[in-house]
Amino acid sequence: MKPVMALVGRPNVGKSTLFNRLTKTRDAIVADFAGLTRDRHYGNAKQGRYEFIVIDTGGFEPTAESGIYKEMAKQTKQAVAEADVVVFVVDARAGVSAQDHDIAKYLRKLGKPTVLAANKAEGMHEGPQLAEFYELGLGEMHAISAAHGEGIRSLVDAAFEPL
Ligand code: GDP
Ligand code: MG
Repeated sequence: MKPVMALVGRPNVGKSTLFNRLTKTRDAIVADFAGLTRDRHYGNAKQGRYEFIVIDTGGFEPTAESGIYKEMAKQTKQAVAEADVVVFVVDARAGVSAQDHDIAKYLRKLGKPTVLAANKAEGMHEGPQLAEFYELGLGEMHAISAAHGEGIRSLVDAAFEPL
C-alpha cells in the first residue's frame, strides 16, 4: 500500500497547484483507492524515491458551522484521517492569517505527522520574511513554489523520511 499525503490549507494558498505539480496531471483519479469520493481529489505521485497517493482538498474552516465551509471542513478532516502525512500549505506572500492559526491548532491537536509548506515563495529566502510561520508551532518550514516547481523535492523528502 502506498503512503498517503493530504494537502490541507485555507482556500487560495495553492493546494491544487501543488497537487497538479506532484501528480503531473490536472485530475488523476485513483479508482482503486478505498473511500474515493467526488469531493476529494486523489492522484498518484512519484517524487524521487517516493511513490505515494496525494489528496487535494477544497479548503479548510475548522470552526465553520454551516454551508459550504462546514462541508469543506468535513471533507478535509476525512482526508486528514486517511493520510499518513499532512502537508499544511500556507501563503508565503500573505503571511500568517487567523485561519492558518485555526488549522494549525487542529493539526497540532491531532498529532499526525505534518510538514509546513510556505507556498508562492519563488524569489523569497527562508529568512525573516518567512519566520512568522514558526509561530504556528508545526516545526520546520519549507519554502516552496508550486507554480514554479521549487522546493518540491525537499518537501516530499521531509514528509516521508520520518515515516
Ligand atoms: P487552492 O485554493 O489552495 O487550491 O489554490 P490554487 O492552487 O487554486 O491557487 C490559488 C492561486 O494561487 C492561483 O491563482 C494560482 O495560480 C496561485 N499560485 C499557486 N501556486 C503558486 C506559486 O507557487 N506562486 C505564485 N506566485 N502563485 C501561485
Ligand atoms: Mg484547490
